[in-house]
Amino acid sequence: MMSIRIILAGCLLFILSTGWSQEKVVASINTLPNLRKVERTNNLVVEKKIDALLAQMTIEEKIGQMTQLNNSVIVTNADWGAGSDLKIEIKIDTAKLGKILREYHVGSFLNGIAVPAKTWYTFYKELQEHNLKISRLKIPVIYGVDHMHGPNYLEGGTIFPHAINTAATYNNQIPADIAHVTAIETADIGHQWLFAPVFDLGRTPLWGRFYESLGESPYVSSTMGSIFVKAIQSDPDIAPYKIGATAKHFLGYSDPKNGWDRGPSDFSDQTMYEFYVPPFQAAVDAGIKTFMINSGDVNGEAVHASYRILTELLRTEMKFKGVVVTDWEDIIRLYRNHKVAADEKDATFRAIQSGIDMAMTPYNTDFCNHLKALVKENKISMERIDLSVSRILRLKLELGLFENPLPRNDRFSRIGSPENKAKALGAARESIVLMRNEKNTLPLLPGKTKKILIAGPVANLKAPLGGGWTLRWMTSDESIYPKDMLTVFSALQKEFTPEKVILAENVDELKAQAGSADAIIIAVGEVPYAEGYGSIIDISLPDDQVELVKAAQATGKPVILIMISGRPRVITKIYPGCSAVLFAGLPGFEGAQAIAEIVSGKTNPSAKLSFNFPYGVNRLVPHNHKSSEVLLAHEIENPISLMPFGTGLSFTTFEYSNLKLSDSVLTSNTAEITASVTVKNTGSREGKEAVLWFLFDEVGSISRPVRDLKYYDKKLLKPGESSQFTFVINAEKQLSFPNGKNEKLLEDGYFTLMVGNLKARFKLKRE
Ligand code: BGC
Repeated sequence: MMSIRIILAGCLLFILSTGWSQEKVVASINTLPNLRKVERTNNLVVEKKIDALLAQMTIEEKIGQMTQLNNSVIVTNADWGAGSDLKIEIKIDTAKLGKILREYHVGSFLNGIAVPAKTWYTFYKELQEHNLKISRLKIPVIYGVDHMHGPNYLEGGTIFPHAINTAATYNNQIPADIAHVTAIETADIGHQWLFAPVFDLGRTPLWGRFYESLGESPYVSSTMGSIFVKAIQSDPDIAPYKIGATAKHFLGYSDPKNGWDRGPSDFSDQTMYEFYVPPFQAAVDAGIKTFMINSGDVNGEAVHASYRILTELLRTEMKFKGVVVTDWEDIIRLYRNHKVAADEKDATFRAIQSGIDMAMTPYNTDFCNHLKALVKENKISMERIDLSVSRILRLKLELGLFENPLPRNDRFSRIGSPENKAKALGAARESIVLMRNEKNTLPLLPGKTKKILIAGPVANLKAPLGGGWTLRWMTSDESIYPKDMLTVFSALQKEFTPEKVILAENVDELKAQAGSADAIIIAVGEVPYAEGYGSIIDISLPDDQVELVKAAQATGKPVILIMISGRPRVITKIYPGCSAVLFAGLPGFEGAQAIAEIVSGKTNPSAKLSFNFPYGVNRLVPHNHKSSEVLLAHEIENPISLMPFGTGLSFTTFEYSNLKLSDSVLTSNTAEITASVTVKNTGSREGKEAVLWFLFDEVGSISRPVRDLKYYDKKLLKPGESSQFTFVINAEKQLSFPNGKNEKLLEDGYFTLMVGNLKARFKLKRE
């Protein structure tokens, strides 16, 4: 097989060495082409303003712009920092704020909990007004929040499913809807810098933040993530405001070797370019304004101190020109956790020289003192500082903060509107995967159902439907959830009438009530968790929940298992005894309604898994694994997944036929071939079908994934209706792959195309 290397235009030679000494870092920074010149935009008004400000700013003012503090340091009352039960009053303490602004000129603040829009409005107005009074050059502050599934830090806001569900919709309208609703519900109250979306790939459910990811496919993450970015950064309905998105957490955060949040990742440069870089590159190409950095360590280098990742990769290769913010306390963690710096000052030096623009310090201003000392000692140049400050000022100018620094309160009727909630319900409906449905157990038609028995630890709770990053960083406090929010139990009562749905609080009640039930629903799952709290010791479904399911199965009644959780919990042993299984993920505030509608048949499910649902805790393999990766699994004939990525059932049936290629050989003259397939709804009710196209490169100089998702499309089909779905195969886009230097290889040979249960082969022959 002949190998043709296409060196990407502009792709500079990549320095593979790791473990830079400080001297080397300084040397290479100094020999960098003038990044500031490269980053200038065509907007002369903006660029002139940046130059003018930089010319007038003192060193203290510049460093202040590079500093981001948590809101707990400027509010009247905050019990923040210990444990997970964070308490904070969203009310400015003018004395605290005044001191921080006067002495340190801090240019950014972050964080939230769900309070009413009016409270945010007053808070942000006071914050900005104080700042503009104190700021000599009238530079507005910018406020960052983690709105990652709707405005999750706003009371009364519309809460969508988490990203792991969004991916399962395979409907590109959904990320656009989430972006739009988030924008119109929050831009007015000063939430103009969103720490979303997450571009980390969910390739292992051991990682506790799995649910924040758009699943395991780089294609899905790139596609949906960039749709979100474009939609949120250009929403016309929030004028005069604009919102900047954040690609996080660059790079390799989601694949810690031991599964623990912020643990070290180790992967080859080839893997990095094939899987981890593309979603972030898509973010850059979509024009994303900011990046947040991985708190962990990749291939032995703490990323916050990695010149290779932060400057060579992100700036030189990927051409990112915006602002790079650290993650939480991550400069401090360079010496406290990673032990790659002697103290905080050394850590500050390493982080800034590696490419950090802004430090989420986030509790104090020590960073400002260290950075100032480093400049005074000539360890960090003023050019380096100016580079970061110019990026931060450009962000503020491009978002229009100078012209419209203050919030407004005349459009709050848009918050939580029926229209927005309908979008969240639509997203939830399309995000719940029907994994199993023996003998058409579902739907339970209301007319024919006399009694449904429901049990399980999450059956009558609201918090698990939202998961982490909902109203608080993480909370199980049911009292703060909307009064009108449904639980699975109350949603079923609404759907079937209250008398027909009985809640069993424990196994004894379940046994006592089972006799007269048509079916038993067991809602299993997880309590909300965020970040390190998701580093659990076992991803199997907990024993008490397994026992409950077994008790239900022992009654002989049909058992419907509903899993509400941020990751697949292994259920292989109890799976065959379940008549139906729904993976509901974290479906958000309208999620219970969507679940109930699927149970009753009002909604026909159309989601497909955004990850391989593991067969066992030692079978954590994504769909796009290498052949060699599962050799043993084949030998012992265990499936690697309980249900594969990209599959999900419907209440109707779809037949795939007539797979055709416009040509069977792709030559240098035929740059593209078009594949088409006919999909027919052969059942008796209408349904949406997501058609997923996979490719397998049969022989590669670097072993290729056994299949990799390359394209998807979803359509609604009426009973008996057929539709043609097409996929354009472009040699460079779909058939090439990177080596460890990010040179794209395009190799002649055979490829297998897979769609539904059909396959076709074609050949690439380019001379
Ligand atoms: C998380 C980020 C988040 C930041 C600010 C960090 O601990 O890792 O994802 O954006 O906190 O809340």
